Amino acid sequence: MLKASRKILLIFIDGLGIGEDDPRLNPLLHHPDIWPAKNHKPDFNGLSNIPIDACLGVEGLPQSATGQTALLTGINAPKLVGKHLQGFPSRKLIELLKNESIFVHLTRNGYNATFANAYRHPEDITPFSRLSVTSHAFKASGQPFRSVEQIEKREALYHDFTNRSLGDKWGDIPILSAQEAADILVGIAKKEHFTLYEHFMTDILGHKGDKSAILSLIRQLSDFIHSTLTLANEEGIKIIITSDHGNIEDSSVKTHTRNSVPFIWNFDSEIIDENQPERITDVIPLIKKILIG
Ligand SMILES: [Zn+2]
Repeated sequence: MLKASRKILLIFIDGLGIGEDDPRLNPLLHHPDIWPAKNHKPDFNGLSNIPIDACLGVEGLPQSATGQTALLTGINAPKLVGKHLQGFPSRKLIELLKNESIFVHLTRNGYNATFANAYRHPEDITPFSRLSVTSHAFKASGQPFRSVEQIEKREALYHDFTNRSLGDKWGDIPILSAQEAADILVGIAKKEHFTLYEHFMTDILGHKGDKSAILSLIRQLSDFIHSTLTLANEEGIKIIITSDHGNIEDSSVKTHTRNSVPFIWNFDSEIIDENQPERITDVIPLIKKILIG
Protein backbone atom coordinates (compact mmCIF):
# COMPACT_ATOMS: atom_id res chain seq x y z
CA MET A 1 0.00 0.00 0.00
CA LEU A 2 1.21 3.50 -0.83
CA LYS A 3 1.05 6.01 1.97
CA ALA A 4 -1.91 8.38 1.56
CA SER A 5 0.41 11.33 1.94
CA ARG A 6 2.25 10.17 -1.17
CA LYS A 7 -0.58 10.27 -3.70
CA ILE A 8 -1.02 13.27 -5.97
CA LEU A 9 -3.60 13.54 -8.73
CA LEU A 10 -2.82 16.39 -11.13
CA ILE A 11 -5.86 17.37 -13.16
CA PHE A 12 -4.72 19.42 -16.12
CA ILE A 13 -7.56 21.32 -17.80
CA ASP A 14 -6.51 22.91 -21.08
CA GLY A 15 -7.53 26.54 -21.62
CA LEU A 16 -9.00 27.45 -18.26
CA GLY A 17 -7.99 30.80 -16.81
CA ILE A 18 -9.15 33.11 -14.06
CA GLY A 19 -11.71 35.47 -15.53
CA GLU A 20 -13.88 38.41 -14.56
CA ASP A 21 -16.37 38.26 -11.69
CA ASP A 22 -19.34 38.59 -14.06
CA PRO A 23 -21.05 35.28 -15.01
CA ARG A 24 -22.22 36.86 -18.31
CA LEU A 25 -18.54 37.11 -19.33
CA ASN A 26 -17.16 34.19 -17.34
CA PRO A 27 -19.17 30.95 -17.70
CA LEU A 28 -17.12 29.27 -14.94
CA LEU A 29 -18.92 31.48 -12.42
CA HIS A 30 -22.04 29.36 -12.84
CA HIS A 31 -20.16 26.90 -10.60
CA PRO A 32 -18.44 29.17 -8.07
CA ASP A 33 -17.90 26.35 -5.58
CA ILE A 34 -15.12 24.92 -7.77
CA TRP A 35 -13.84 27.73 -10.01
CA PRO A 36 -12.13 30.95 -8.99
CA ALA A 37 -12.56 34.37 -10.63
CA LYS A 38 -10.52 37.56 -10.20
CA ASN A 39 -12.14 38.44 -6.86
CA HIS A 40 -13.66 35.09 -6.00
CA LYS A 41 -12.12 32.03 -4.36
CA PRO A 42 -13.75 28.58 -4.78
CA ASP A 43 -15.86 27.76 -1.71
CA PHE A 44 -16.01 23.94 -1.93
CA ASN A 45 -14.97 22.48 1.41
CA GLY A 46 -11.18 22.48 1.86
CA LEU A 47 -10.38 23.92 -1.57
CA SER A 48 -7.74 26.66 -1.99
CA ASN A 49 -6.62 28.60 -5.04
CA ILE A 50 -3.69 30.78 -6.04
CA PRO A 51 -3.71 32.50 -9.45
CA ILE A 52 -0.50 31.65 -11.35
CA ASP A 53 1.00 33.29 -14.43
CA ALA A 54 1.02 31.38 -17.74
CA CYS A 55 2.65 34.07 -19.92
CA LEU A 56 6.15 33.44 -18.48
CA GLY A 57 7.60 36.79 -19.54
CA VAL A 58 7.06 36.13 -23.24
CA GLU A 59 4.95 38.42 -25.47
CA GLY A 60 1.81 37.24 -27.22
CA LEU A 61 -0.87 34.76 -26.23
CA PRO A 62 0.34 31.70 -24.31
CA GLN A 63 -0.07 28.46 -26.27
CA SER A 64 -0.40 24.74 -25.57
CA ALA A 65 2.92 23.27 -26.78
CA THR A 66 5.15 25.60 -24.78
CA GLY A 67 2.67 26.01 -21.91
CA GLN A 68 2.22 22.29 -21.31
CA THR A 69 5.96 21.68 -21.62
CA ALA A 70 6.55 24.38 -19.00
CA LEU A 71 3.85 22.87 -16.81
CA LEU A 72 5.16 19.28 -17.00
CA THR A 73 8.89 20.06 -16.75
CA GLY A 74 9.05 23.19 -14.59
CA ILE A 75 11.23 24.81 -17.26
CA ASN A 76 10.31 28.08 -18.98
CA ALA A 77 9.78 26.53 -22.43
CA PRO A 78 8.45 29.67 -24.22
CA LYS A 79 11.49 31.65 -23.07
CA LEU A 80 13.76 28.81 -24.20
CA VAL A 81 12.33 28.74 -27.73
CA GLY A 82 11.75 32.52 -27.87
CA LYS A 83 7.96 32.42 -28.34
CA HIS A 84 4.72 30.68 -27.42
CA LEU A 85 4.32 27.60 -29.67
CA GLN A 86 0.87 26.16 -30.36
CA GLY A 87 -0.31 22.62 -31.08
CA PHE A 88 2.21 19.79 -31.10
CA PRO A 89 5.66 20.15 -29.52
CA SER A 90 8.70 20.97 -31.67
CA ARG A 91 11.83 18.77 -31.69
CA LYS A 92 13.44 20.97 -29.05
CA LEU A 93 10.42 20.67 -26.75
CA ILE A 94 10.27 16.89 -27.26
CA GLU A 95 13.94 16.67 -26.28
CA LEU A 96 13.21 18.69 -23.16
CA LEU A 97 10.28 16.43 -22.24
CA LYS A 98 12.43 13.31 -22.77
CA ASN A 99 14.89 14.47 -20.15
CA GLU A 100 12.89 16.62 -17.78
CA SER A 101 9.25 15.50 -17.67
CA ILE A 102 7.75 14.81 -14.26
CA PHE A 103 7.11 11.17 -15.32
CA VAL A 104 10.80 10.65 -16.13
CA HIS A 105 11.91 12.32 -12.93
CA LEU A 106 9.58 10.34 -10.65
CA THR A 107 10.10 6.92 -12.23
CA ARG A 108 13.89 7.40 -12.18
CA ASN A 109 13.60 8.07 -8.45
CA GLY A 110 11.55 4.93 -7.78
CA TYR A 111 8.07 6.50 -7.67
CA ASN A 112 5.01 5.30 -9.58
CA ALA A 113 3.79 7.89 -12.06
CA THR A 114 0.95 7.28 -14.47
CA PHE A 115 -1.16 8.96 -17.15
CA ALA A 116 -4.83 8.02 -16.64
CA ASN A 117 -6.00 9.00 -20.14
CA ALA A 118 -7.14 6.32 -22.59
CA TYR A 119 -5.82 6.33 -26.17
CA ARG A 120 -7.92 5.07 -29.09
CA HIS A 121 -5.10 3.08 -30.74
CA PRO A 122 -2.07 2.97 -28.46
CA GLU A 123 -0.77 -0.05 -30.41
CA ASP A 124 -0.35 2.13 -33.51
CA ILE A 125 1.89 4.72 -31.84
CA THR A 126 5.38 4.67 -33.36
CA PRO A 127 8.46 6.82 -32.73
CA PHE A 128 7.25 8.91 -35.70
CA SER A 129 3.67 9.51 -34.50
CA ARG A 130 2.66 13.12 -33.87
CA LEU A 131 1.88 13.29 -30.18
CA SER A 132 0.80 15.97 -27.76
CA VAL A 133 3.05 17.33 -25.01
CA THR A 134 1.35 15.22 -22.33
CA SER A 135 1.83 12.08 -24.44
CA HIS A 136 5.53 12.81 -25.00
CA ALA A 137 5.97 13.62 -21.31
CA PHE A 138 4.56 10.22 -20.34
CA LYS A 139 6.07 8.20 -23.21
CA ALA A 140 9.54 9.37 -22.14
CA SER A 141 9.16 7.27 -18.97
CA GLY A 142 8.97 4.12 -21.13
CA GLN A 143 5.51 3.08 -19.95
CA PRO A 144 2.66 1.96 -22.24
CA PHE A 145 -0.35 4.17 -22.89
CA ARG A 146 -3.72 3.11 -21.54
CA SER A 147 -6.34 2.02 -24.10
CA VAL A 148 -10.06 2.69 -24.58
CA GLU A 149 -10.66 -1.02 -23.84
CA GLN A 150 -9.28 -0.41 -20.34
CA ILE A 151 -12.09 2.06 -19.57
CA GLU A 152 -14.51 -0.86 -19.12
CA LYS A 153 -12.08 -2.47 -16.69
CA ARG A 154 -12.03 0.86 -14.81
CA GLU A 155 -8.31 1.23 -15.59
CA ALA A 156 -8.46 4.34 -17.82
CA LEU A 157 -10.56 7.41 -18.59
CA TYR A 158 -11.18 9.11 -21.92
CA HIS A 159 -10.20 12.79 -22.18
CA ASP A 160 -13.88 13.85 -22.24
CA PHE A 161 -14.44 11.48 -19.22
CA THR A 162 -18.00 10.56 -20.41
CA ASN A 163 -16.89 8.65 -23.58
CA ARG A 164 -19.44 10.66 -25.64
CA SER A 165 -16.81 11.94 -28.07
CA LEU A 166 -15.78 8.36 -28.92
CA GLY A 167 -18.98 8.08 -31.01
CA ASP A 168 -20.67 4.91 -32.20
CA LYS A 169 -17.66 2.96 -33.45
CA TRP A 170 -16.81 1.99 -29.89
CA GLY A 171 -20.33 0.58 -29.42
CA ASP A 172 -19.64 -1.38 -26.25
CA ILE A 173 -18.08 1.48 -24.33
CA PRO A 174 -20.67 2.83 -21.88
CA ILE A 175 -21.46 6.52 -21.48
CA LEU A 176 -20.23 7.43 -17.99
CA SER A 177 -21.82 9.82 -15.53
CA ALA A 178 -19.60 12.39 -13.80
CA GLN A 179 -19.77 10.25 -10.64
CA GLU A 180 -18.76 7.03 -12.46
CA ALA A 181 -15.87 8.81 -14.19
CA ALA A 182 -14.69 10.29 -10.88
CA ASP A 183 -14.85 6.84 -9.33
CA ILE A 184 -12.55 5.43 -12.04
CA LEU A 185 -10.07 8.30 -11.80
CA VAL A 186 -9.78 8.12 -8.02
CA GLY A 187 -9.48 4.32 -8.31
CA ILE A 188 -6.44 4.81 -10.56
CA ALA A 189 -4.90 7.57 -8.41
CA LYS A 190 -5.22 5.40 -5.29
CA LYS A 191 -2.64 2.98 -6.69
CA GLU A 192 -0.01 5.52 -7.79
CA HIS A 193 2.25 8.13 -6.27
CA PHE A 194 1.48 10.51 -9.13
CA THR A 195 -1.37 10.49 -11.64
CA LEU A 196 -1.97 12.96 -14.46
CA TYR A 197 -5.39 13.35 -16.02
CA GLU A 198 -5.82 15.67 -19.00
CA HIS A 199 -9.08 17.27 -20.14
CA PHE A 200 -9.03 19.49 -23.23
CA MET A 201 -12.66 19.92 -24.36
CA THR A 202 -12.49 23.25 -22.50
CA ASP A 203 -9.94 24.60 -24.97
CA ILE A 204 -11.73 23.12 -28.01
CA LEU A 205 -15.11 24.61 -27.03
CA GLY A 206 -13.50 27.90 -25.96
CA HIS A 207 -12.19 28.28 -29.54
CA LYS A 208 -15.60 27.41 -31.04
CA GLY A 209 -17.34 29.95 -28.81
CA ASP A 210 -20.76 28.18 -28.71
CA LYS A 211 -22.12 29.52 -25.43
CA SER A 212 -24.70 26.83 -24.73
CA ALA A 213 -22.18 24.04 -25.49
CA ILE A 214 -19.69 25.76 -23.16
CA LEU A 215 -22.24 26.03 -20.34
CA SER A 216 -23.20 22.38 -20.73
CA LEU A 217 -19.52 21.26 -20.70
CA ILE A 218 -18.76 23.38 -17.63
CA ARG A 219 -21.75 21.88 -15.81
CA GLN A 220 -20.51 18.33 -16.57
CA LEU A 221 -16.91 19.17 -15.78
CA SER A 222 -17.87 20.82 -12.49
CA ASP A 223 -19.94 17.76 -11.49
CA PHE A 224 -16.96 15.54 -12.36
CA ILE A 225 -14.50 17.66 -10.37
CA HIS A 226 -16.95 17.87 -7.48
CA SER A 227 -17.31 14.06 -7.35
CA THR A 228 -13.56 13.56 -7.77
CA LEU A 229 -12.80 15.95 -4.89
CA THR A 230 -15.36 14.27 -2.62
CA LEU A 231 -13.92 10.80 -3.29
CA ALA A 232 -10.30 11.98 -3.13
CA ASN A 233 -10.92 13.68 0.22
CA GLU A 234 -12.24 10.35 1.57
CA GLU A 235 -9.16 8.53 0.27
CA GLY A 236 -6.62 11.15 1.38
CA ILE A 237 -5.52 11.78 -2.21
CA LYS A 238 -4.00 15.18 -2.85
CA ILE A 239 -5.48 16.92 -5.87
CA ILE A 240 -3.97 19.80 -7.81
CA ILE A 241 -5.96 21.37 -10.66
CA THR A 242 -4.29 23.74 -13.10
CA SER A 243 -4.08 24.82 -16.74
CA ASP A 244 -1.63 25.88 -19.46
CA HIS A 245 -3.33 29.20 -20.41
CA GLY A 246 -6.71 30.91 -20.31
CA ASN A 247 -9.51 30.54 -22.86
CA ILE A 248 -12.93 29.31 -21.68
CA GLU A 249 -13.15 31.86 -18.82
CA ASP A 250 -13.63 34.75 -21.26
CA SER A 251 -16.76 34.49 -23.45
CA SER A 252 -15.92 37.75 -25.23
CA VAL A 253 -13.08 36.13 -27.25
CA LYS A 254 -12.51 32.76 -28.95
CA THR A 255 -8.74 32.92 -28.52
CA HIS A 256 -6.50 32.07 -25.61
CA THR A 257 -6.12 34.82 -23.01
CA ARG A 258 -3.22 36.22 -20.98
CA ASN A 259 -5.19 35.72 -17.77
CA SER A 260 -3.63 33.91 -14.84
CA VAL A 261 -4.65 30.26 -14.47
CA PRO A 262 -5.77 28.57 -11.26
CA PHE A 263 -3.58 26.51 -8.99
CA ILE A 264 -6.30 24.74 -6.97
CA TRP A 265 -5.53 22.24 -4.23
CA ASN A 266 -7.56 20.25 -1.68
CA PHE A 267 -5.13 19.62 1.20
CA ASP A 268 -3.25 21.37 3.98
CA SER A 269 0.37 21.82 2.99
CA GLU A 270 3.13 23.70 4.73
CA ILE A 271 5.18 23.13 1.58
CA ILE A 272 2.67 25.11 -0.51
CA ASP A 273 2.24 27.74 2.23
CA GLU A 274 6.01 28.29 2.28
CA ASN A 275 6.59 27.99 -1.49
CA GLN A 276 3.50 29.62 -2.99
CA PRO A 277 3.50 29.08 -6.76
CA GLU A 278 3.61 32.23 -8.90
CA ARG A 279 3.74 30.78 -12.41
CA ILE A 280 3.03 27.48 -14.18
CA THR A 281 6.73 26.50 -14.01
CA ASP A 282 6.34 26.32 -10.20
CA VAL A 283 3.84 23.42 -10.28
CA ILE A 284 6.22 20.51 -10.94
CA PRO A 285 8.91 21.63 -8.44
CA LEU A 286 6.14 21.78 -5.81
CA ILE A 287 4.86 18.31 -6.67
CA LYS A 288 8.43 16.95 -6.45
CA LYS A 289 8.83 18.60 -3.04
CA ILE A 290 5.54 17.21 -1.73
CA LEU A 291 6.24 13.66 -2.99
CA ILE A 292 9.96 13.31 -2.54
CA GLY A 293 10.79 16.07 -0.04
ZN1 LIG B 1 -3.62 24.57 -24.25
